[in-house]
Amino acid sequence: MRLFVGIDLPHELRIELASLRTSLPGARWVPEENWHLTLRFVGEVTPNQAEDVDLALATLRGKRFALTLTGLGTHTRNGREVALWAGVERSPALEHLQNKVETAMQRAGLAPERKRFMPHVTVARLDIISEAKLPAYVQAHNLFRAGPVEIDHLTLFSSQLGKEAAVYTPEVAYPLG
Ligand code: ATP
Ligand code: MG
Repeated sequence: MRLFVGIDLPHELRIELASLRTSLPGARWVPEENWHLTLRFVGEVTPNQAEDVDLALATLRGKRFALTLTGLGTHTRNGREVALWAGVERSPALEHLQNKVETAMQRAGLAPERKRFMPHVTVARLDIISEAKLPAYVQAHNLFRAGPVEIDHLTLFSSQLGKEAAVYTPEVAYPLG
Protein backbone atom coordinates (compact mmCIF):
# COMPACT_ATOMS: atom_id res chain seq x y z
CA MET A 1 0.00 0.00 0.00
CA ARG A 2 0.93 3.63 -0.54
CA LEU A 3 1.07 5.69 2.67
CA PHE A 4 1.77 9.18 3.88
CA VAL A 5 1.63 10.93 7.24
CA GLY A 6 -0.30 14.15 7.30
CA ILE A 7 -2.86 16.44 8.80
CA ASP A 8 -6.51 16.15 8.04
CA LEU A 9 -7.47 19.82 7.73
CA PRO A 10 -10.08 21.06 10.21
CA HIS A 11 -13.34 22.45 8.91
CA GLU A 12 -12.39 26.07 9.75
CA LEU A 13 -9.44 25.88 7.37
CA ARG A 14 -11.45 24.14 4.67
CA ILE A 15 -14.01 26.94 4.61
CA GLU A 16 -11.22 29.45 3.95
CA LEU A 17 -9.54 27.25 1.36
CA ALA A 18 -12.82 27.08 -0.53
CA SER A 19 -12.56 30.83 -1.10
CA LEU A 20 -9.53 30.20 -3.33
CA ARG A 21 -11.64 28.36 -5.88
CA THR A 22 -12.47 31.37 -8.00
CA SER A 23 -12.14 31.60 -11.74
CA LEU A 24 -8.80 30.37 -13.03
CA PRO A 25 -9.04 28.86 -16.49
CA GLY A 26 -7.05 25.66 -16.77
CA ALA A 27 -6.99 25.01 -13.04
CA ARG A 28 -8.19 21.57 -12.04
CA TRP A 29 -9.23 22.12 -8.45
CA VAL A 30 -8.29 19.38 -6.02
CA PRO A 31 -11.55 17.90 -4.70
CA GLU A 32 -12.30 19.10 -1.19
CA GLU A 33 -12.08 15.65 0.35
CA ASN A 34 -8.45 15.51 -0.85
CA TRP A 35 -7.25 18.67 0.89
CA HIS A 36 -4.49 17.76 3.31
CA LEU A 37 -1.07 18.71 4.60
CA THR A 38 1.64 16.10 4.08
CA LEU A 39 4.22 15.83 6.85
CA ARG A 40 6.04 12.79 5.50
CA PHE A 41 5.54 10.80 2.34
CA VAL A 42 6.07 7.11 3.07
CA GLY A 43 5.36 5.57 -0.33
CA GLU A 44 4.74 1.95 -1.22
CA VAL A 45 5.22 -0.41 1.72
CA THR A 46 4.50 -4.03 2.53
CA PRO A 47 1.90 -4.84 5.21
CA ASN A 48 4.80 -5.57 7.61
CA GLN A 49 6.39 -2.19 6.98
CA ALA A 50 2.99 -0.53 7.35
CA GLU A 51 2.73 -2.10 10.77
CA ASP A 52 6.16 -0.74 11.74
CA VAL A 53 5.14 2.71 10.52
CA ASP A 54 1.95 2.53 12.57
CA LEU A 55 3.83 1.38 15.66
CA ALA A 56 6.42 4.16 15.35
CA LEU A 57 3.68 6.78 14.99
CA ALA A 58 1.73 5.33 17.91
CA THR A 59 4.74 5.75 20.21
CA LEU A 60 5.59 9.23 18.98
CA ARG A 61 4.81 11.83 21.63
CA GLY A 62 3.77 14.88 19.68
CA LYS A 63 2.31 18.11 20.94
CA ARG A 64 -0.75 19.94 19.70
CA PHE A 65 0.02 23.04 17.72
CA ALA A 66 -1.64 25.97 16.01
CA LEU A 67 -1.77 25.72 12.23
CA THR A 68 -2.05 28.83 10.08
CA LEU A 69 -2.25 28.79 6.30
CA THR A 70 -0.81 31.81 4.57
CA GLY A 71 -0.09 32.94 1.05
CA LEU A 72 -0.05 31.14 -2.26
CA GLY A 73 2.65 29.60 -4.37
CA THR A 74 3.26 27.28 -7.29
CA HIS A 75 5.25 24.15 -7.94
CA THR A 76 7.15 24.15 -11.19
CA ARG A 77 8.32 21.20 -13.21
CA ASN A 78 10.62 21.67 -16.19
CA GLY A 79 10.11 25.40 -15.94
CA ARG A 80 6.34 25.12 -16.08
CA GLU A 81 3.91 25.82 -13.26
CA VAL A 82 2.06 22.59 -12.55
CA ALA A 83 0.39 23.08 -9.18
CA LEU A 84 -1.02 25.83 -7.03
CA TRP A 85 -0.75 25.61 -3.26
CA ALA A 86 -1.64 27.47 -0.10
CA GLY A 87 1.35 28.04 2.15
CA VAL A 88 1.77 27.09 5.78
CA GLU A 89 3.06 29.60 8.30
CA ARG A 90 6.40 28.45 9.65
CA SER A 91 6.29 27.56 13.32
CA PRO A 92 8.77 25.90 15.68
CA ALA A 93 6.00 23.57 16.87
CA LEU A 94 5.29 22.29 13.38
CA GLU A 95 9.00 21.88 12.57
CA HIS A 96 9.46 20.02 15.82
CA LEU A 97 6.54 17.71 15.10
CA GLN A 98 7.75 17.06 11.56
CA ASN A 99 11.19 16.20 12.95
CA LYS A 100 9.61 13.73 15.33
CA VAL A 101 7.69 12.13 12.49
CA GLU A 102 10.89 11.88 10.44
CA THR A 103 12.71 10.23 13.34
CA ALA A 104 9.81 7.84 13.82
CA MET A 105 9.84 6.89 10.14
CA GLN A 106 13.56 6.14 10.29
CA ARG A 107 12.93 4.06 13.37
CA ALA A 108 10.36 2.18 11.29
CA GLY A 109 13.12 1.43 8.80
CA LEU A 110 12.50 4.02 6.10
CA ALA A 111 15.37 5.76 4.37
CA PRO A 112 15.84 9.39 5.48
CA GLU A 113 13.88 12.01 3.54
CA ARG A 114 16.38 14.10 1.57
CA LYS A 115 14.03 16.84 0.45
CA ARG A 116 13.62 19.81 2.75
CA PHE A 117 10.22 20.00 4.42
CA MET A 118 8.13 22.53 2.54
CA PRO A 119 4.66 22.39 4.05
CA HIS A 120 1.81 23.29 1.70
CA VAL A 121 -1.75 22.38 0.78
CA THR A 122 -2.14 21.70 -2.93
CA VAL A 123 -5.36 23.28 -4.14
CA ALA A 124 -5.12 22.93 -7.92
CA ARG A 125 -3.24 21.26 -10.74
CA LEU A 126 -2.48 23.66 -13.55
CA ASP A 127 -2.80 23.19 -17.28
CA ILE A 128 -0.87 25.24 -19.78
CA ILE A 129 -3.80 27.53 -20.59
CA SER A 130 -3.96 28.83 -17.04
CA GLU A 131 -0.39 30.10 -17.04
CA ALA A 132 -1.18 33.45 -18.60
CA LYS A 133 -3.87 34.10 -16.00
CA LEU A 134 -1.82 32.86 -13.08
CA PRO A 135 0.02 36.05 -12.04
CA ALA A 136 -3.25 38.00 -11.75
CA TYR A 137 -4.83 35.16 -9.78
CA VAL A 138 -1.89 34.92 -7.39
CA GLN A 139 -1.88 38.71 -6.93
CA ALA A 140 -5.58 38.69 -6.13
CA HIS A 141 -5.20 35.97 -3.48
CA ASN A 142 -1.79 36.79 -2.13
CA LEU A 143 -3.14 37.88 1.23
CA PHE A 144 -4.81 34.53 1.76
CA ARG A 145 -4.71 33.58 5.41
CA ALA A 146 -6.61 30.99 7.43
CA GLY A 147 -6.34 30.03 11.09
CA PRO A 148 -4.71 29.62 13.52
CA VAL A 149 -6.51 26.39 14.30
CA GLU A 150 -5.41 23.85 16.87
CA ILE A 151 -4.33 20.52 15.44
CA ASP A 152 -4.83 17.68 17.90
CA HIS A 153 -3.96 14.59 15.89
CA LEU A 154 -1.78 13.22 13.11
CA THR A 155 -3.24 10.97 10.45
CA LEU A 156 -1.75 8.05 8.58
CA PHE A 157 -3.34 8.14 5.13
CA SER A 158 -3.36 5.52 2.44
CA SER A 159 -3.37 6.78 -1.13
CA GLN A 160 -4.81 5.02 -4.13
CA LEU A 161 -3.67 6.50 -7.39
CA GLY A 162 -6.18 6.47 -10.20
CA LYS A 163 -6.89 7.97 -13.58
CA GLU A 164 -8.57 10.94 -11.94
CA ALA A 165 -7.64 12.31 -8.52
CA ALA A 166 -6.00 9.96 -6.04
CA VAL A 167 -8.22 8.64 -3.24
CA TYR A 168 -6.84 9.23 0.25
CA THR A 169 -8.19 7.25 3.17
CA PRO A 170 -7.44 8.17 6.80
CA GLU A 171 -6.29 4.82 8.22
CA VAL A 172 -5.18 5.73 11.74
CA ALA A 173 -5.36 8.89 13.87
CA TYR A 174 -2.67 9.56 16.49
CA PRO A 175 -3.65 12.06 19.19
CA LEU A 176 -1.26 14.89 20.01
CA GLY A 177 -0.86 15.69 23.69
P1 ATP B 1 -0.74 11.94 -8.05
O1 ATP B 1 0.62 11.37 -7.77
O2 ATP B 1 -1.62 11.01 -8.88
O3 ATP B 1 -0.72 13.34 -8.54
P2 ATP B 1 -0.95 12.63 -5.29
O4 ATP B 1 0.40 13.22 -5.47
O5 ATP B 1 -2.04 13.48 -4.75
O6 ATP B 1 -1.50 12.01 -6.63
P3 ATP B 1 0.44 10.61 -3.84
O7 ATP B 1 1.47 10.58 -4.92
O8 ATP B 1 0.04 9.32 -3.23
O9 ATP B 1 -0.87 11.34 -4.35
O10 ATP B 1 1.00 11.55 -2.71
C1 ATP B 1 0.40 11.68 -1.44
C2 ATP B 1 0.93 12.91 -0.78
O11 ATP B 1 2.34 12.81 -0.60
C3 ATP B 1 0.73 14.21 -1.57
O12 ATP B 1 0.58 15.29 -0.67
C4 ATP B 1 2.02 14.37 -2.33
O13 ATP B 1 2.30 15.73 -2.60
C5 ATP B 1 3.02 13.81 -1.34
N1 ATP B 1 4.15 13.18 -2.02
C6 ATP B 1 4.08 12.28 -3.01
N2 ATP B 1 5.29 11.86 -3.40
C7 ATP B 1 6.18 12.53 -2.64
C8 ATP B 1 7.59 12.54 -2.54
N3 ATP B 1 8.36 11.79 -3.31
N4 ATP B 1 8.15 13.35 -1.61
C9 ATP B 1 7.40 14.12 -0.82
N5 ATP B 1 6.06 14.15 -0.85
C10 ATP B 1 5.45 13.38 -1.75
MG1 MG C 1 2.10 12.12 -6.36
